[in-house]
Amino acid sequence: MYAQKKLNAISLAFYGLFCLHPIILSAFMVAPLIVSIFSSKLHISYASSASLPINRAQFKNNQISASLPKDSEPLDEESSSIEDDLLKDDMDNAISSETNVHDYIVTYGDTLSNIINQYDVELADIIQLIRCDRRLHNLHIGQKLSWTLNNKHQLQHLTWERSHGEIRCYERTKKGFKVSLSLKMDLFQRKITTVIVNTSFINSARLAGLSTKEIQAVIKSLQWQIDFRKLRDGDRFEILTMYAMLNGKKQKSELLGVRLHNTNKNYYAIRAVNGKFYDRSGSDLTSRFMRFPTVKKYRVSSSFNLRRPNPITGKIIPHKGVDFAVPIGTPVLAIGDGEIIVSRFSSTAGKYVAIRHGHQYMTRYMHLNTLLVKVGQKVKRGEHIALSGNTGRSTGPHVHFEIWVNNQAVNPLTARLPCMEKLTGKNRRNYLDKAKKIILQLNKK
Ligand SMILES: [Zn+2]
Repeated sequence: MYAQKKLNAISLAFYGLFCLHPIILSAFMVAPLIVSIFSSKLHISYASSASLPINRAQFKNNQISASLPKDSEPLDEESSSIEDDLLKDDMDNAISSETNVHDYIVTYGDTLSNIINQYDVELADIIQLIRCDRRLHNLHIGQKLSWTLNNKHQLQHLTWERSHGEIRCYERTKKGFKVSLSLKMDLFQRKITTVIVNTSFINSARLAGLSTKEIQAVIKSLQWQIDFRKLRDGDRFEILTMYAMLNGKKQKSELLGVRLHNTNKNYYAIRAVNGKFYDRSGSDLTSRFMRFPTVKKYRVSSSFNLRRPNPITGKIIPHKGVDFAVPIGTPVLAIGDGEIIVSRFSSTAGKYVAIRHGHQYMTRYMHLNTLLVKVGQKVKRGEHIALSGNTGRSTGPHVHFEIWVNNQAVNPLTARLPCMEKLTGKNRRNYLDKAKKIILQLNKK
């Protein structure tokens, strides 16, 4: 029991701080004994990443936690007023997933359950799905998954792109899941599209014939290098896409590379076999994130729960973040590099801060006492953005912390955070070879 608890704590705290190698990850899952061997190593990592494992610092603040009610916020909290801060312009709309539709590229350490579970889907659904096709146990880095949930957060449909041309779809039926489609496409076409920015990148890209998905892919590929909101008229993109065809019809497209020419400078993002994008020298510019918004790890006083019913009315009142019981005046840290998009008071969230990281990620920190940042300010990972408090609709001192991916809230404790993946050895040589050819094509135009 203790070993299992410790195991959970360690793997939870560890996700997202680093990309775990799948072998290490599966070792964590099958052999609790191994954990003790790894523990000493893990301690060093926690110390250097300004973050402690769950349960561990639990809790020198006994007096404080004992005086807190079980939930740190009233259950009937309506947070609609602060949702308005989320969607700001067409850039946000473009990067948003449709509600309950999710896309994901498999990376190091992923399993089907840890990918889907961060959206608060019941484990039973995932188990049923794997029962339908055991191959789902063996996801490979770079494969694409997309799935839809219904309003009760039940899995309805999953698409698994196993390789460029092979797609398998699974659908929920009354008796579990069944394979609804299995396709192999082997005809590919490549195409370069030029987009010259005129007023808005998104409109210009649409006029040039790119689909919403293709536009999203371009924004994601360059998000750590450039801010799409700061593009100017005349900035020029060359976008290389590969199409899979079936019976003469385009079935799906994949972004292979992008060049942006912007005031005498070129930016490149080229796709590697792992599905990630690197610059022309093979460097990964992805921002690193911390798991927790405080130096120490505090007790969770209310968990992330998108299916939380009000015990009296039965109405679903999602709790879109996690509450940490933090004493008033504790420094609250930005979990990643980003730009402050909100720093103000709201009657429900109290004093709160929202940070945008790249174009896909956003974090929010609520019920604060003192705000230390202004809208438009750039912050670094670990920078103090506020002092914690008990403001707004709150029943005790705590920090309510949220992570949003593509404008959807995910569980901050299990979220698959962006992480750096360095290309080394043969992978790096292959990448540089391929990138050279793609860059030649992009520069020809
Ligand atoms: Zn909360």
